[in-house]
Amino acid sequence: MVGLMFCVALLGAILVLGLYKPALWAWSAALAIAALLWKSDAVNGSAGLFGALLWFAAASFAALAIPSLRRARVTGPLFERVRGTLPKVSETETQALEAGTVGFDAELFSGEPHWNKLRAMPSVMLTPEEQAFLDGPTEELCGLIDNWKARHQQRDIPEEIWDFAKRHGFLGMLISKAHGGLGFSAQAQSLIIGKIASRSPDAVIIVMVPNSLGPGELIEKYGTDEQKEHYLPRLARGDDIPCFALTGPTSGSDAATMRDIGTVFRGDDGKPAIRLSWDKRYITLAPKATLLGLAFRLLDPDNLLGKGTEPGITVAMIPADHPGVQIGRRHLPSGAAFPNGPTWGRNVVIPADWIIGGEAMAGQGWRMLMECLSAGRAISLPSVATAGSKAMLRFTTAYARLRRQFGLPIARMEGVEEPLARMIETAYASEAARAVTAAMVSRGERPSVLSALMKYQTTERMRHSVNDALDIHGGRAICDGPSNYLQSAYQMVPIGITVEGANILTRTLITFAQGALRSHPYLVDEIKAAQDQNEARGLEEFDRAFSSHAAYTFANGAGAFLHGITGSMFVPAPEKSFDTANWYRHLGRASRSFAFVADLTITTLGGRLKTRQKISGRLADALSELYILACVLKRFEDDGRLSVDRTFVDLAAMNGLYRFQEAMRGAIDNFPVASVRWAMRAAVFPLGARYRPAPDELGQRAVQLVLGSQDVRDRLTRYIYVSHDPDDPTGLLEVALKKAIAAEQAEKKLDRAVRDGLVHRYHGVDWIGEAIERGAVTESEGQQLRDLEALIARVIAVDNFDPAALKPNYRSGSPFSNGSSRSGSNGTGAGNGNGNGHGRSFEAAAE
Ligand SMILES: Cc1cc2nc3c(=O)[nH]c(=O)nc-3n(C[C@H](O)[C@H](O)[C@H](O)COP(=O)(O)OP(=O)(O)OC[C@H]3O[C@@H](n4cnc5c(N)ncnc54)[C@H](O)[C@@H]3O)c2cc1C
Repeated sequence: MVGLMFCVALLGAILVLGLYKPALWAWSAALAIAALLWKSDAVNGSAGLFGALLWFAAASFAALAIPSLRRARVTGPLFERVRGTLPKVSETETQALEAGTVGFDAELFSGEPHWNKLRAMPSVMLTPEEQAFLDGPTEELCGLIDNWKARHQQRDIPEEIWDFAKRHGFLGMLISKAHGGLGFSAQAQSLIIGKIASRSPDAVIIVMVPNSLGPGELIEKYGTDEQKEHYLPRLARGDDIPCFALTGPTSGSDAATMRDIGTVFRGDDGKPAIRLSWDKRYITLAPKATLLGLAFRLLDPDNLLGKGTEPGITVAMIPADHPGVQIGRRHLPSGAAFPNGPTWGRNVVIPADWIIGGEAMAGQGWRMLMECLSAGRAISLPSVATAGSKAMLRFTTAYARLRRQFGLPIARMEGVEEPLARMIETAYASEAARAVTAAMVSRGERPSVLSALMKYQTTERMRHSVNDALDIHGGRAICDGPSNYLQSAYQMVPIGITVEGANILTRTLITFAQGALRSHPYLVDEIKAAQDQNEARGLEEFDRAFSSHAAYTFANGAGAFLHGITGSMFVPAPEKSFDTANWYRHLGRASRSFAFVADLTITTLGGRLKTRQKISGRLADALSELYILACVLKRFEDDGRLSVDRTFVDLAAMNGLYRFQEAMRGAIDNFPVASVRWAMRAAVFPLGARYRPAPDELGQRAVQLVLGSQDVRDRLTRYIYVSHDPDDPTGLLEVALKKAIAAEQAEKKLDRAVRDGLVHRYHGVDWIGEAIERGAVTESEGQQLRDLEALIARVIAVDNFDPAALKPNYRSGSPFSNGSSRSGSNGTGAGNGNGNGHGRSFEAAAE
């Protein structure tokens, strides 16, 4: 019995010691003491195998504590192995991996996050000028947009929208004031873009694209003084409309493999010039653009620019009316109204000083793009997607309260409550994470890993919210027409999923792999040491990093196990976390588990991680849940710890931890190396997988809170555009909802009268008149009900059309246009234009 107690105490001591990452000699001393105790009278353990094992372990640690011995026996051979097996990383991969900054993601990878670093991030703060712009011109622009007209009648963004956007400086929000732009913070840009997106997923594109990766940002950051002075004021005013062309038919996700080339030669004026051939597609704003930002591979056979014969990917600005530039045709992405189309050119000659940043930046294109993307990805799509999720919630809560079936508002039915609760969680959590991430970018961070996870998580969650909204609206959302306020979002969801790094790739390849390499506390040092040309110095560095790495791995494994068997109760919570301390503790445990599994994954799989995407995708999900839940806790604090919001926090926390657990379970269960899989499972799930999704009752409470209080509904959907115009389909929802809340008592009386058979709701019958006559409702209640029913009749109405009005306004045509003939392997552009499966051309209808 005493022996058993000794073993349990020893295990506990090892785990606790492990948590504090002691030096190797301390391990040796502790094990030697344990060996002596084992033999002492108090324990009286048999001196046999167990005692010998303890002495052996103590001696091993002592040997490892001697640097020369450790290098000879352990780190030296390992160093040689790592040196020989390091995967080849291309120049573009290295630039992508090194782009951006490491911030709070490193805390999550450490296993011991300093929550105060995140809590110190400012909450949403705008300057008075930014706030006035959000409340003024942004609100006004939203009011001008008519989605139906843009998408179906004009199939274009109307000129008055462009003019308004240009006049008020929307196209130059990221351009500094010194160059004629608005110079707004990332937080302000995010909120402005979000508000417009909540009104029109089409119109927001004309504001979002000039304010994200493209000529404006690239010139502002890398341009020469002349380029800045010439182009930035023009772009800010909208005198120039930019587009940015990276993607081509053969280079989509793998954009760095582009076949577009520019060859440097000496021009007639004696200066270097570039002869360019390109074929790009899907380029947003291209049909309307006056300034084309073009990414291409630069060759310089005579080394005229002094950067070698293959400087690499380069970005130049080319006026769209420059001879040879082919631009103007349109794609039709998801029936969208915003301009998007291909551009191509053959042997187009431009001066070398049209390279952004001038000749000095030849070959620097990929680095520039990756740097900008690591910040931009945190703003554009997360803002649009978060606003989309909030708008879906706002519209759907109103509709579900107004739409009645089986004698009840459908919102009261449990089956509808379930997706509504999901939408509430998404709106609360996405806004929490959006605000924190935008604040990071506003402070100058370029969080490459967090921006990648934000891009795929917020767009993916929006996709679910849009689907839920459609399901709850039923046929009302399916039949398109001017009164359908969901179809444009539904149709455009795949665009958000696909652009700026398609989600599958961003989830499975970018987020975790990049995170593990960038945010791991020792891995980068180990890789650098292994790559050191000076082998002796490399070994010394490797040895140092590896020793710390081993202690880190053990500490995280011990921590995960300990917190697993003690229900997270010993995890420290940050000060003043009050009633959410419990969630911080669970997050702390989760971070330990994640750090341990992430570490073993990357060290075991190494270069194979690129292809083990089902593992890395799940770990990206796990990391995302940690980050988003941390942001939820921060939002709760920033909003003043409102007791009503605890329901949303608990909902997000329970579901988030459950999804985290499932992602980890999936990664561990499918881990390809059995011994590592076993170690991971033992540390992370010592008592099994114990988190459960939020109970039904919590979801129900969340839905009741939102339906029962306009304040709560407003707070959950804050920063989006809300119309109160009864002639606008979404404004009608707001007006009708207000009336429904005011007429709740009268509605109940009428319902009772119908149930009692006093009145009948049949076409051609004035049932409200009958209810008044029979004393079921008063005269004034009857009027309230008449007003409400008239509004609801409009809310549930769907559009119908004269068949002739639905005839397509485009027709097929024969002239050459499909991309396949331009991108043939001989690159001559001499296609036959017969449409060999890549696409067909269409010409304007001669109406
Ligand atoms: C409406 C719209 C607007 C756009 N605007 C612009 C623009 O302004 N400028 C511009 O340059 N480009 C633009 N794009 C291009 C966009 O960035 C690309 O569509 C995107 O990068 C994906 O390329 P792809 O469509 O060729 O898909 P593919 O690269 O063919 O990918 C297909 C699928 O395979 C997955 N996949 C590919 N490789 C991997 C991998 N290694 N691991 C795991 N999964 C992988 C992807 O995630 C995707 O799901 C736009 C696209 C659209 C649709």
